[in-house]
Amino acid sequence: QHAKRNRIDLQTYSQQIDANSLDRLQLVNELKAAIENNELVLFYQPKLNLAINKVTHVEALVRWQHPVRGMIPPDTFIPIAEQMGQMNALTHWVIHQALSQYHLWLAEGIELAIAVNISAENLKNQSFGEFVLSAIEQHQVPIEALTLEITEDAVVADPENAIKQLNQLKQHGLTLSIDDYGTGYSSLAQLKQLPVDELKIDKSFVQNLMTSDDDKTIVSSTIQLAHNLGLKVVAEGIEDEGSLKWLAKHNCELGQGFYLSKPVDAKMLANWLARSPYGPNSAET
Ligand code: C2E
Ligand code: MG
Ligand code: MG
Ligand code: MG
Repeated sequence: QHAKRNRIDLQTYSQQIDANSLDRLQLVNELKAAIENNELVLFYQPKLNLAINKVTHVEALVRWQHPVRGMIPPDTFIPIAEQMGQMNALTHWVIHQALSQYHLWLAEGIELAIAVNISAENLKNQSFGEFVLSAIEQHQVPIEALTLEITEDAVVADPENAIKQLNQLKQHGLTLSIDDYGTGYSSLAQLKQLPVDELKIDKSFVQNLMTSDDDKTIVSSTIQLAHNLGLKVVAEGIEDEGSLKWLAKHNCELGQGFYLSKPVDAKMLANWLARSPYGPNSAET
């Protein structure tokens, strides 16, 4: 009896946070307009090169600055965009915005490679590779300056087309990264088929690194596995100095997390870099 009640409570709760259906319907309609009305905004979270202690990369993370509801996090509207066939429009906006930002920072003397997140809908699209390459050409951005972060689950939706699109991009020199590594459903056999350059270890293994021997084992073996496969490693979810140092000692290439900085807008990131010892133009190391 009690267990059943809890289950129902849980269900109601998850429906609430998922927004009830009316709310959802409204969000869907509004999301279409949001892209045109410039209500989406990209925040950026720095990635520290752990060998040289400089920020060399950032991840672009979209937010919806809703006129009435305030800032809506991506976990709330990305799944809706995905279900409602709006992910291609959204990703187009994200990539164009990120490539424009590359030049804005460059004009301030800050050179940063930018990673954007790609969803399953994008990898079902037959012209996704073409779109990304033409955006890079249009913005005149060096190909090394863009990384695509792809979850294993996004590939699983249509592996054949996903691998075709990713191969095309890889051939042109784009950096491809497996996001949330360790949480997906794909086997190592499937992973081997993906033309990726980088593994991004999910934050659930990194957040408690200093207090969990299991997480230490998982992370150090994942770093070793990646290196043996010729892949670089990014750790996300670094929340304390101990974890940062531990990851550097274990030869993890890049680190990202609230300990360094939360995702912030482009202006705030430039200000932070100017003050931080990790800034690209700082003399300190
Ligand atoms: P993700 O790509 O795995 O991004 C990392 C998420 O972890 C971000 O949440 C970031 O704020 C959070 N994070 C980073 N460091 C820490 C940390 O030290 N501690 C904790 N607790 N969290 C940390 P955010 O910005 O809310 O994004 C959530 C997810 O939404 C992303 O996960 C990504 O899957 C998706 N997303 C965001 N922007 C886009 C986008 O432009 N396109 C697509 N397709 N998905 C996006
Ligand atoms: Mg990501
Ligand atoms: Mg991630
Ligand atoms: Mg994630």
